[in-house]
Amino acid sequence: MTRLTRPDLTRRTFLSGTAAGASLIALHPYSARAAGNQVHLRLMETTDLHVHVFPYDYYSDKPRDTVGLARTASIVADIRAEAANSMLLDNGDLIQGNPMGDYVAYERGMKDGDMHPIVQAMNTVGFDAATIGNHEFNYGLDFLMKSMAGARFSVVLSNVATELGATPQGDTTLFKPYVILDRTVTDGSGASHALKVGIIGFTPPQIMNWDRRHLEGNVQVRDIVATASAYVPEMKEAGADIIIALSHSGIGPATGDMLENASVPLAAVDGIDAVMTGHQHLVFPGPKHQTAGPVDAEKGTLHGKPAAMGGFWGSHLGLIDLMLESSGGQWRVVSHESSTRPISRRNEDRSYTALVESDAAVLAAVQKDHDETLAYIRRAVGKTSAPLHSYFALVADDPSVQIVSIAQKWYIAEMLAGGEYASLPILSAAAPFKTGGRGGPEYFTDVPAGDVAIKNVADLYLYPNTVRAVKVTGAQVKDWLERSAGMFNQVEAGATDQILLNPDFPSYNFDVIDGVSYEIDLSQPSKFAPKGELINPDANRIVNLSFNGQPVTDAMEFVIATNNYRASGGGSFPGTGDTIIFEAPDTNRDVIVRYIVEQGTINPSADANWHFKALPGTTVLFDTGPAAKAYMGDVEGVKIEEAGEGPEGFVRFRIEL
Ligand code: MN
Ligand code: MG
Repeated sequence: MTRLTRPDLTRRTFLSGTAAGASLIALHPYSARAAGNQVHLRLMETTDLHVHVFPYDYYSDKPRDTVGLARTASIVADIRAEAANSMLLDNGDLIQGNPMGDYVAYERGMKDGDMHPIVQAMNTVGFDAATIGNHEFNYGLDFLMKSMAGARFSVVLSNVATELGATPQGDTTLFKPYVILDRTVTDGSGASHALKVGIIGFTPPQIMNWDRRHLEGNVQVRDIVATASAYVPEMKEAGADIIIALSHSGIGPATGDMLENASVPLAAVDGIDAVMTGHQHLVFPGPKHQTAGPVDAEKGTLHGKPAAMGGFWGSHLGLIDLMLESSGGQWRVVSHESSTRPISRRNEDRSYTALVESDAAVLAAVQKDHDETLAYIRRAVGKTSAPLHSYFALVADDPSVQIVSIAQKWYIAEMLAGGEYASLPILSAAAPFKTGGRGGPEYFTDVPAGDVAIKNVADLYLYPNTVRAVKVTGAQVKDWLERSAGMFNQVEAGATDQILLNPDFPSYNFDVIDGVSYEIDLSQPSKFAPKGELINPDANRIVNLSFNGQPVTDAMEFVIATNNYRASGGGSFPGTGDTIIFEAPDTNRDVIVRYIVEQGTINPSADANWHFKALPGTTVLFDTGPAAKAYMGDVEGVKIEEAGEGPEGFVRFRIEL
């Protein structure tokens, strides 16, 4: 095992040179106390790297200390040095998920013999094995196979086949289902032993739905647990001393067929010794998981077996320490620990402090791809025929919100096509994120008509949310909009210059629903308080709500395209929480980029599907950024005029209702 560190076991600690400078390494107790027939094997895991090598946010075109395999690589050296024997594994979602991935897929391409930058970086760090995540399929099978061809580590995936047999053993799998790696390990007395380490990989069977356009007719999938149950005895027969599952699948239900998050029942499969998990972008062991039934979120076990999840984008290493003992030629796990190590620390003021410097060799290995990605994010990938700005997003239908709605609807229509919800009308909900407020008078989206670059997309969609679809009734659509309309103060009909916006209401909860048209009657009280409590059950701010020119009735059924925050109950919107019919693996940002790249020219002109109800003789005031003046004439469905200066650099406008 070439990369093993063989520390001097007579000392409990020793000094080791690292990229970050010399630091004190404490030997793990398993290595310190291992007896002659005992071997400490440390398993290190990265997961959901999503092409993050440099500590850089390509969307905002700024360095970012919390991400990047170059940083994770710096802690690998120290963490290896703490153990007599170690292996480095990756749990998938490698080639997609940031603009570097899009650059390689959409611009540069992968020809035979090309190196994918994430694979290049992983080769530099030195991985033993990896599995394939669901996002590996986003750019098609040809791209995937060419990307992984450069890996100088084993790539395993057992539950995706180009041809299905009668049993998993009869399948023609896309990748090797498993490998048995021959490793030489060192025991507590310093003696070497041959150890056969079995490694098997899994990905969510939902790829057939998520990437149907690439996969239908080309591959088929099997249930994760059923596939494991078939292969693990074969691996044992082939001599595997221990078996590690690389499960690109999260920690979810205890039972179920074709589970997306199957790591809990997977851990129960006889013969599996340790489970590396991922897909959920969480940390395990850790407080984001609950200790219940087979899950121990403090110890980091599933069904009593060690498991770990190393965050995402290189944020952490997941660690499983195994103490192996041999008797009669058989190795077994006699004790184990699970933990994670971060690359940055969150401060009280929510800022982050890097805990390590980047590994220079890893940076150098992908410097060229990084430079090309920077050029890519800064140049046009599409055109917009209308300016994309949010200066009037809270008073009129708005292009910066419209483009998000259009892209979400486009994506959900494709995802639901041919399924049980395909006949339902699709609406799309989106809120403006950058609307001044505490961010100040410049805190607005402002992309002029013409070229759109990738770095503009972060401006259109601030958060790394993922897309969701919910199924709702007409009554829920109306209440969803009533909840949004809490954005506004109640105004007195006939009175002038009343302040429009409720400062306690965040703009990210001002959802506009596209696909229906409606008016907001500001003379009515808000039905909901700013945090979502029902305060005026009989209030009706939303009037003339219609779909295709017909009034929306309570019993009508719709699908709403939205994000994971809203769909899972964020903001306590009526019609969310238990109505999700589709959970997308893709981020709203990725969907917007894909939409722009595929369309070439986008037309985000707002369709003025909502406006304030006329209240003759009534005026309101609202404040926005000074740059809004240039766009004042474009705002449809509202009579607007300048009304002098607002506080703190804002400008004030008057609206005639
Ligand atoms: Mn992922
Ligand atoms: Mg609209």
